[in-house]
Amino acid sequence: MGLRLLMIGPPGAGKGTQAAQIARDHGVPKISTGDMLRDAVASGTSLGLQIRETMSTGRLVSDDLIVALVRDRLRLDDATVGFVLDGFPRTVTQAEALDGLLNGAPLTVVEIQVPDEELVRRVRGRRICESCGTTVSAFDGDPAQASACRNCGGRLVQRSDDSEAVVRDRLQVYWKETRPMIGYYEPRPTFRRVNGALAPRDVYAAIAGAIGSVAAGR
Ligand SMILES: [Zn+2]
Repeated sequence: MGLRLLMIGPPGAGKGTQAAQIARDHGVPKISTGDMLRDAVASGTSLGLQIRETMSTGRLVSDDLIVALVRDRLRLDDATVGFVLDGFPRTVTQAEALDGLLNGAPLTVVEIQVPDEELVRRVRGRRICESCGTTVSAFDGDPAQASACRNCGGRLVQRSDDSEAVVRDRLQVYWKETRPMIGYYEPRPTFRRVNGALAPRDVYAAIAGAIGSVAAGR
């Protein structure tokens, strides 16, 4: 029944949305380290303060700290039947630590693969409503051509962190960190790769199929 899934994919691949849907389908929590870091900072605990200080100086939060956060999260009741991990592990060191935390429990790994050029193209087309924050993506037609928000009629603008240079930087960081980690998981029989360049519903179907095929092979 339970599902232990790790989703890997570049920024802009729609991984978070897919992870949330798959987690709902299987009745397991989606564990996003990005959310957890934000929550920890907001909570104002000593750990949160430590994280805030690290992030405010532009440094990366250390592997030890991230692993400690995930370890505590995996111990909570709702994660005993399984989980969908989003954003962790990011490096081989973190992947090795996760193996330690799992203590032999099977892990399905799905990489959502999207060519860098496709991700840049998506970002170029993405617009956000100034008034209500609705995002319009290339999958909703051609947002660059849309003049007003369908929700509220507000003005559609490009997000400041959606510039092509920012996206290319993020992709460079992603590949540098994550390619070795993909190499770590790739030889396993529980590793699958899906085509993320398709429409979201087709990517979803591919992920569900990958999970099913791993479960069938077990
Ligand atoms: Zn709007």
